[in-house]
Parts: sequence; structure tokens; C-alpha cells
Amino acid sequence: MSNESPYRVLLYYKYVRLADPVAFTAEHRSLCEELGLLGRILIAEEGINGTVSGTVAATDAYRAALSADARFADIEFKVDPADGHVFPKLAVRARAEIVALDLGKDDLFPGDVTGRRLSPAEFQALMAEEDVLVLDGRNDYESAIGHFKGAVCPPVGNFREFPEWIRENLAEAKDRKILTYCTGGIRCEKLSGFLVREGFRDVYQLEGGIVTYGRDEKVRGEDFEGQCYVFDQRIAVEVNRTATRKVIATCRYCGKPSERYVNCAWKPCNAQVFLCLACETERGRYCGDACAAAGMKNIS
Ligand SMILES: [Zn+2]
Ligand SMILES: [Zn+2]
Repeated sequence: MSNESPYRVLLYYKYVRLADPVAFTAEHRSLCEELGLLGRILIAEEGINGTVSGTVAATDAYRAALSADARFADIEFKVDPADGHVFPKLAVRARAEIVALDLGKDDLFPGDVTGRRLSPAEFQALMAEEDVLVLDGRNDYESAIGHFKGAVCPPVGNFREFPEWIRENLAEAKDRKILTYCTGGIRCEKLSGFLVREGFRDVYQLEGGIVTYGRDEKVRGEDFEGQCYVFDQRIAVEVNRTATRKVIATCRYCGKPSERYVNCAWKPCNAQVFLCLACETERGRYCGDACAAAGMKNIS
């Protein structure tokens, strides 16, 4: 793929107070439909969070329309070339939060409290210091295919589980430098804000997330191991463009390095697992023997 690719994938967010998110959602859905965009957009009183695919002309028009709105004037788009749509449909929804940390009445707005922002070069330099704690702010199935070298990757399946996990596991780390990162930066705005409010003294976040880190011409994704999980049909994208690039995921059957992330073919399971082509050919696309047995029975 190159810049001549006919499609673009946009990833963007903006924390900004919206007075009437429901009305804005309806209006915004019409705009996306008109432009033929596909993807997922969440809108809440705290802002907008979206990832869409469309033709170059459509995504350009969309960016111009959003940027022309004073509330989103400084919104940043991460843009990837693509050969076609990477989403099967369009969903534009009004929600309570654009990223659900589920703090209820203790909800926090990153415009009020958040960690200090680091550029990719600053993040890399700080990561190399002693006694820093690099915290992956994503779910376990995301960090499994790739994460920063030495990062703590919490075993959580949902962002809502972070507050409890942090209280149970990081209580002793309140005086350490904490460096948080996520895919595009949106989750860290809240996560780092939560850490600050919990009494952590030295909290930082990677501005623009792994995606921006991978594109930075100076750091070129160095010190990121594996690939970056994305929530579309691509599953994962490259980050590290240096010679230190390596595969960290392993096939669940043979244990050899493999970044083939597939869904278990036994539909009621559908678990996402690493499975090399040789093992899949031999045993089928299943996460384990139980699902293989169930899947085979279903076919016969
Ligand atoms: Zn294998
Ligand atoms: Zn399974």
C-alpha cells in the first residue's frame, strides 16, 4: 500500500464538552452517510471518538467538515492508506462516555485532570530511565500481539477493569514515574487522569499513542515489540521500522513465533488466538481440542 491507495482510514478523537450529543449524533450520522464512510463513531457529552474508512475524497471532505466546526478545530487525524474499506458498516452512536472507564459520579474529564504529555522522542528517552513503570493502557488481547519493551500489560479484557486493577496492583508505585500508552492516545487521557487523581505523583502519557510513535521519523517505532492491534479488519499494523523489530506472539499449539491472530471457528467460542498456518492446516482453526471436537461435530 502507498499514498496512491484509493482509500484512507482515519483515527481521531477530541475531548470537548458537547451540549447536545444526541442531536449532534444524528447530524453527524447524516454527514458520514452522505460521504459513504464506514466505521465506528462514539459521541458523548465529553467529545467524539472515531475510526472510519472511505475514499480519499470522502475522508478529505470529512476532515474539512469536522475541522471547520470550532469545537473540533484542533482535532488531529491519524491517516492510513488502504486499498478499500476496512469496516463492514457504519455505526454512529451517542453514549455516556467516548471511552468507558465507568467511574459513575466520579467520572473525570481529561480537560480537567490528565497526565503530562510526552512526544515519541521524550517517551522513548524516559522509558530508558531506571525505575520507571511503563503501563500498557489497553486490553490483554491487544498487548498480546505487541507492546513496548518491558511494559506492564494488565490482564484485563475491558478498559473498565483498569481502576480496580490499578488499586489492587499499583498501590505501591505511587512515587514511581508512570508512563502510560495506548493505541491512539484517547484511553491514556483518562487513564493517566485517573492515576493522578488516585495520588500517583509523576504520571505521563504518550501523546498520539503507539500509532504516532510508529510514524515518528526520529524514533521509527524503536523499542516497540510486535505489532499494534487495531479494531478493524486489518487486526494489527506495523510499528517498529528499525532493525530491532521482532515477533512476540507465539502459536498456541507449536509455540513458534506467529502473528496470525484468528478467531476460533467454533462460533459460540470465537476466541481470538495466535495460530500458525501449519498448525491450522493440521488441526483446524480452533482455540483448543474442545472447540475442535465441537466444531467437527457440527459439520458432520
Ligand atoms: Zn503452530
Ligand atoms: Zn474456541
